[in-house]
Amino acid sequence: MEGKIKRFREMIKEKKTIDSMLALLQWDLETQAPKGGYKLLSEMIGELSLRSYNLTTSEEFLEILTELKKQKNIDEITKREIELLEEEIEKIKVIPSEEYKLYSELTAKAQGIWEMAREKNDFESFAPILEQIFNFNKKFIEYRGVKDDIYSEILNDYEKGMNVKKLDKFFEELKKEIVPLLKDIKENKRDFQKKIKFQVSEFEQRLFSEEVLKYIGFDLERGVLSESAHPFTLTVNKDDVRLTTRYLEELPFSSVFSTIHEGGHGMYEQGVAEELKDTILSDGASMGIHESQSRFYENVIGRSKEFWCGVLGKSKFKYDKLSELSLEEIYKGINEVSPSLIRVEADELTYSLHVMVRYEIEKGILSGEYLIKDLPKIWNDKMYEYLGVTPKTDSEGVLQDVHWSCGLIGYFPSYALGNVYSLQILNAMKKDINIEGALERGELKIIREWLKEKIHRYGKLKTPKEIMLSVTGEELNPVYYIEYLKNKYKNIYN
Ligand SMILES: [Zn+2]
Repeated sequence: MEGKIKRFREMIKEKKTIDSMLALLQWDLETQAPKGGYKLLSEMIGELSLRSYNLTTSEEFLEILTELKKQKNIDEITKREIELLEEEIEKIKVIPSEEYKLYSELTAKAQGIWEMAREKNDFESFAPILEQIFNFNKKFIEYRGVKDDIYSEILNDYEKGMNVKKLDKFFEELKKEIVPLLKDIKENKRDFQKKIKFQVSEFEQRLFSEEVLKYIGFDLERGVLSESAHPFTLTVNKDDVRLTTRYLEELPFSSVFSTIHEGGHGMYEQGVAEELKDTILSDGASMGIHESQSRFYENVIGRSKEFWCGVLGKSKFKYDKLSELSLEEIYKGINEVSPSLIRVEADELTYSLHVMVRYEIEKGILSGEYLIKDLPKIWNDKMYEYLGVTPKTDSEGVLQDVHWSCGLIGYFPSYALGNVYSLQILNAMKKDINIEGALERGELKIIREWLKEKIHRYGKLKTPKEIMLSVTGEELNPVYYIEYLKNKYKNIYN
């Protein structure tokens, strides 16, 4: 048996090495590569994906898994790895290898096409490849023998146990609370944001972003911050975690919050226990839990008054202009509710409505109700219905997010789940820590350590449900999130 375990670990090591190489290619593709390089890079990604596919579905690997499964005294980590690998294999072995490779190449190529289409406001040039991506996703699910409710199956891949029925109910509940609150606020409209809109050079914003990462506890010795059209986090391994942000000279807080958001993801990846490093459990439990960490830092922490009290009082980094503003002006400025076109710039209240637009569109395309060519209009109509705004161009409408081009269909609901989880986590944390005090004193380490102890270190060893139950004693529960929004905005808008 020891021989089998040894061989199992070797194969996992190989699988992880391929994943790390894929991550590096992806990183290059999205940050540095010139347009001329996209074609070769996509081919390389396709080739490596095929290698990973062949390894994972090889007879030798399947045999080892079967053997190991029979063992009674297998350790907890290996046991969980086998469980997850079996799920993964079940899903990919039904896909013909050639199609698997083609799809990997396609999504790599699509990112360049999306970027260009967004730049030129040209949805038509993106539509054909988008259609192919959706079709592939549909086909891959059908290979599993699923014919109806394809979207539920996709959602379950991102968040185990999730389906359309649950999410419909969840979004309905959010909509019921958020839309009237939004209406009240609109009637009481203020221009808090005016104060925090000023010109700051990219260079200064970069310095601020790096400092704020250090401040919240992201380890820049084991990570790096770069730039991309759409901010993201990418893990080569827990000692090499890469983040991006984007700098808009007129909106100096935009990069700050993007950076804090990605920093939240990054600290999760960095905080996984050392013993999980060479296993397939070395990243986050699910995308919903991952987003709970990023949204926790971005909003619950980053948009709190106490956080800025700490930043202004203790830290050496700040935009010069901030000294002319009061804490109250900054706090209200970064929390103004203003229905906007762009999801990543959205305030906390309207954010989940942006997610809902995408959720309904994905659902409609996969059920055959919507056609790709009609997406710009469908998008604009939904934006008007929920947020009361209409994009003037597709670049600030249907073309704004990178996700679909990467094949991340079904990812968006993770953001809304993350919001809800993050408030449940806050509620639990409050019982152990004086969070306000820690933030005012600029002692963010205690917060990161708490999250590391309760969530980060487990990686994928626990399921999302197990994590939520052990940390908060409850499964997904929107009550805390809704209460938080009501209290926060009642306070800001009197
Ligand atoms: Zn995120």
